Parts: sequence; structure tokens; C-alpha cells
Amino acid sequence: MAHLLIVEDEEKLARFIELELNHEGYEVTKAFDGREGLRLATENKYDLILLDIMLPGLNGLEVLRRLQQDNPTPTILLTARDAVMDKVSGLDAGAVDYITKPFAIEELLARVRVALKIHGSIASTSGKETGASDEEGILTWRDLVLNEKKHEVTYQGHLIELTNREFMMLQYLLLNKDIVLSRDTLLEKVCGYDYIGETNMIDVYIRYLRTKIDDAFDVKMIQTVRGVGYVIKSE
Ligand code: CA
Repeated sequence: MAHLLIVEDEEKLARFIELELNHEGYEVTKAFDGREGLRLATENKYDLILLDIMLPGLNGLEVLRRLQQDNPTPTILLTARDAVMDKVSGLDAGAVDYITKPFAIEELLARVRVALKIHGSIASTSGKETGASDEEGILTWRDLVLNEKKHEVTYQGHLIELTNREFMMLQYLLLNKDIVLSRDTLLEKVCGYDYIGETNMIDVYIRYLRTKIDDAFDVKMIQTVRGVGYVIKSE
């Protein structure tokens, strides 16, 4: 059973979400402020966190940043305002999705299902696709090593700082070496929800990866296949 953490200072809303999630068969823990949320998320392992941005004590974005450093957990942000900056900062900080309040509970439940499915599918894909990643969860390309368990990427031993999405994108490309992946496929796998018509987001993430890996180490890891998508070729 998936275990979710809700960090939300509106206690009535938190209880309502908890009831609905319980009804769907999820186990739920609640925190009503940022510090308590961070403490719980650091000390326990959750499958998914629902994290309000406007929180007393420590705001949601700060909680997210601190968590991503030590204990990355898929997180859906709850934002009261239609604040584009919060969303962008949140996604950059590693959130897998966000939902603007007020929301229909069905929408939240749908996003929870998608987030768990995406996260679960990546976790269960690891090591199962023959020859893709070994039992240790290690994916490689030349001197690049992606460690799924440690959530860490190095090139010739140098640690490469990647955001959650950059990591997922690289992981998915490495798992599917020699298979050209379309922008739609990457968008679905990496962003996890429907960004209709926004496949150029994938180009942005590819550019970030190229800056951090190709440019930094003078290699050409991610190939563009014109009109189709992207591929990492085995040597
Ligand atoms: Ca709040």
C-alpha cells in the first residue's frame, strides 16, 4: 500500500484529503507545518508527498529543497495562488507536479495516481529491462555512471548536479539506449502529466543536460534525431 505524507496547514483540508486518500486505499500521515513535514519526510520513507507551498514555520519550497538534497521523494505541490514563479521554482526544485487550490478532489486523486504510477514504473523498470541496468541499479555510458539507488550521476568520478527531472530524463534515455525516444514519450515519462503542446519543454531539459554533461566533459552523449527525438547510442 502506498504511504503518502500530507503537509498542509489548513487542517480541515488536510483531513478531507486524508479521508479521500484512505478511501482510495492509501495510507496517510499528516503534518500541519513545514518543520514537522520536513522532520517526518526525513525520518520516514513515503511514496509521495503532497506539499502546500504557503506554510507556517518553513515554506513548502524550502521543505522541498532540503528534502531533494538528502531524501528525494516524489512531491506534488499544492499552491493557493496561481503563481507562475512558485510553480517554476517548485518544478526546478524537483516537484513532480503541482495543483492549484481550490481543486476538485478527483483531479488531485488522478494526479496522485499518475505520480505513483510514473514513480513506480521507473522504480520497477530498473534492472528488469535486460541489459539496461544491472542489479546494483547502475547505468553507464563511457565514463558516465548513473547510480539509481544513490540518485547520483558522475562523469570520470566528478559529481554532476542534476535536478530531479534531468535525472529522470537521463535515466530514461540510458534505460532505452539505442532507441530513439520522441518528445511525447519523454514528456510523458519525465513530466508525468499532460503538457499538451509543450513538448519543447523536453528540448529545454535536453539543453540543461547537454550543458552539464556534453559541454562540461566535451562529449556528445545525447544525439538529436531530426524530426523524431533523442537517443543515447551505446558505443
Ligand atoms: Ca497553506
